[in-house]
Amino acid sequence: MRHLAHIFAQLTEGLAAGGSLLLLTDYDGTLTPLVADPEEAWLPREVRDDLRLLARSPWVCLGILSGRSLSDLRARVGIREAIYAGCHGLELEGPGFSFRHPEAEGQRESIGALACSLTGRLSRFKGARVEPKGLSVAVHYRNVAPDSVGWFLLELEQALCEQRGIFKALPGKKAVEILPRVQWSKGECALWILDRLTPALRCPLRALYVGDDRTDELAFEALAGKGITARVGPGRALSAAVCRLRDVTEVHRLLSALAAEVGDRRRQP
Ligand SMILES: [Mg+2]
Repeated sequence: MRHLAHIFAQLTEGLAAGGSLLLLTDYDGTLTPLVADPEEAWLPREVRDDLRLLARSPWVCLGILSGRSLSDLRARVGIREAIYAGCHGLELEGPGFSFRHPEAEGQRESIGALACSLTGRLSRFKGARVEPKGLSVAVHYRNVAPDSVGWFLLELEQALCEQRGIFKALPGKKAVEILPRVQWSKGECALWILDRLTPALRCPLRALYVGDDRTDELAFEALAGKGITARVGPGRALSAAVCRLRDVTEVHRLLSALAAEVGDRRRQP
């Protein structure tokens, strides 16, 4: 609660000074609770309403960064005015612009071939799921029997070794994300948004990045000294974020409070 109040105060102070907000957030585990089947991670209606109000405000730029594919992410959030960054920022779209990381785009075919080969190779592990996402592949093992997980990860590691290091693996929560080995992450993506898309916004600009996973740590590091960073979850995990939000409910409370603030501001003469 202490951090929630602190973040809210920092952001609204910027608004009160006539400035604007850049709100960047992860999706799974940040806007929606983690669920056994990622297909079932849906955004509650009231949270979408708050996000939409924020995205439509002339004082706010809203971006959602995720390991999901851009099309999946956009379909789940469904707000036209927002910026979407899929595959850990390798593909980006927003009102009036579209960006694909050129080196990653050049490896789209290899990534597709890898997804096919992994699907066959890992099929003997019951509960495993290979998810091709265009510029990346996610391999989920949340539903693999616990005593098979070690063998499963070994098989995956072996498969990636055979690819002679052209892909990188990012461990996530019961999933491994496989991406082209390019110097780009949610961190570079967040900075790209900050540098390219916010100069038109009114100063002072306050930036916030919220995320719950190891891949968000790269954004926390990139934004050090440039914005407020908040890790979602209990305080056990070491984090480069300066603030903590206890759980998804606290994230929702923050968004709701910000939406109310921006809504009130809009009604002022
Ligand atoms: Mg997450």
